Amino acid sequence: MQGLMMETPLTLTSIFEHAVRYFGRKEIVTQRPEGPPHRYTYAECGRRVRRLARALQQAGIGPGDRVATFAWNTYEHLECYYAIPCLGAVMHTVNIRLHPDQLAFIINDAEDQVIFCDRSVVAALDQLAGRLPTVRLVVLMGPGSVQTCQVAETVDYEAFLASADGEVVWPELDEDSAAAMCYTSGTTGNPKGVVYSHRSSYLHSLTTALVAGDGARETDRYLPVVPMFHANAWGGIYAFMLVGADIVLPDRFLDPQHLLQFLRSERVTVTAGVPSVWTLLLAEMNRTGERLPDLHAILCGGSAAPAALIAGFDQVGLRLYHAWGMTETSPVGTHGSIKSYLRTLPEAEQLALRAKQGFPLPGVELRIVDLATGERCPEDGTTSGEIQVRGPWICRAYYHDEQDADHRFTTDGWLRTGDVGTVDAEGYLEIVDRTKDLVKSGGEWISSVQLENTIMAHPQVLEAAVIGVPHPKWSERPVAVVVPRADAGPALTQAAIQEFVRDQVASWWVPDAVVFVKEIPKTSVGKFDKKRLRTELPLPVLG
Ligand code: ADP
Repeated sequence: MQGLMMETPLTLTSIFEHAVRYFGRKEIVTQRPEGPPHRYTYAECGRRVRRLARALQQAGIGPGDRVATFAWNTYEHLECYYAIPCLGAVMHTVNIRLHPDQLAFIINDAEDQVIFCDRSVVAALDQLAGRLPTVRLVVLMGPGSVQTCQVAETVDYEAFLASADGEVVWPELDEDSAAAMCYTSGTTGNPKGVVYSHRSSYLHSLTTALVAGDGARETDRYLPVVPMFHANAWGGIYAFMLVGADIVLPDRFLDPQHLLQFLRSERVTVTAGVPSVWTLLLAEMNRTGERLPDLHAILCGGSAAPAALIAGFDQVGLRLYHAWGMTETSPVGTHGSIKSYLRTLPEAEQLALRAKQGFPLPGVELRIVDLATGERCPEDGTTSGEIQVRGPWICRAYYHDEQDADHRFTTDGWLRTGDVGTVDAEGYLEIVDRTKDLVKSGGEWISSVQLENTIMAHPQVLEAAVIGVPHPKWSERPVAVVVPRADAGPALTQAAIQEFVRDQVASWWVPDAVVFVKEIPKTSVGKFDKKRLRTELPLPVLG
């Protein structure tokens, strides 16, 4: 027997229309390089989005056409987040920090026709002049004097909006049609395109709103530090506008001083970003003694949040929530909060639990599979295996790769994430490592993530990355690359760190060497760039 419910499509258009109709007076604020921040209401944003969509239509963009963005977190970018998909076109967010060859590869692979580009990053596009045959129009956004881009015919964003002969009439969309796409960072081989549908984006927004921090609320003021050019900015733009929260956008001003000031002056209540951003913010708060009384949730993911970071925020009255996901999972897969009946556990146990990556969002199924046998692992909190997931916002194939060349999808319909982890009896996931970053010592695995977090608990260590270095006897041994805190003295030596770690991990996990650096290279989205560490750093020869 069939259900007797209507099948109105789940689309981003319905999120947009709901937000601007019912929360028209709520605010969107954007930091500007000079002068006061730009402010306007959802209602004004709505009018501009409809004009933008109409202008795109007049420029010949229709259903299925790919339109790229190349921009920071601003209200113009936010307008693209709705106008492009609600028109039926596909918004391709391009990571502005990629290497020119990767940029050329993904823009050509997606066959983008129009690129919305911030004036502040136009130089990165100019380098691609002559290499992007499908791009016929570049629309320049934001303050600045640049008027042209070498890639194609150029028009100013405001002039483009003004050229619209009215507002769009939204097309009826199939909920399974493509809304947006984003390429994985391609740490091995070429980047792979992940294509989100309206339905997947809608469901991801609903569930993210449900769990983010204590759940997204109308009273929130949400500031995404996580860039809108990667993995949908974790879906927060849609999730928080769905509930009518104010949106606060930092543009490119992400250094800890700016961020602290902006979070405070805009009375932000929820923010989101990777651990490296929060490490610097916490150090700045401790240095200046400044506090953020309005902020009640820091959403943190993208790489593992060390327990020391979570505890450090506790001490300044801020709550960090740990989440896990990837471009392929829209991206939020799990979110960490302590269940009520676990709040009676001793503080240390609760902290250990909060340092895990949480449990799956409703709708996401997760299993741990033994890497060697392919058997499902017990969920005992200690047996580790590859994390596999499935659900309505998990990708089932890469763009232009329906044959699944890298075998990332199982025959029974699960995504192989390439992450290794454990799940405990309560369902909390703990990421042990990425398969490719595990250190294989004498046939046994050492978790680089766990070692890093142990070292980062040292009071004089700001950041630590662990990589496997070839060893004649053990095949690989761990080496730690450490950034001392500004106030660290000469006592912070290799021996001191080895000693500190020795108490807390198995003796064969203690790193063979510690290399001190001023900074750890980061990937385009702020994670430790272990590939560069392996190739660029003068690493010790072991054995
Ligand atoms: P990339 O890092 O390759 O650019 P993504 O942004 O999609 O691609 O990152 C996804 C990966 O980031 C995951 O597969 C996982 O390895 C890592 N990751 C994400 N969140 C966490 C977390 N909370 N803890 C540890 N690792 C994480």
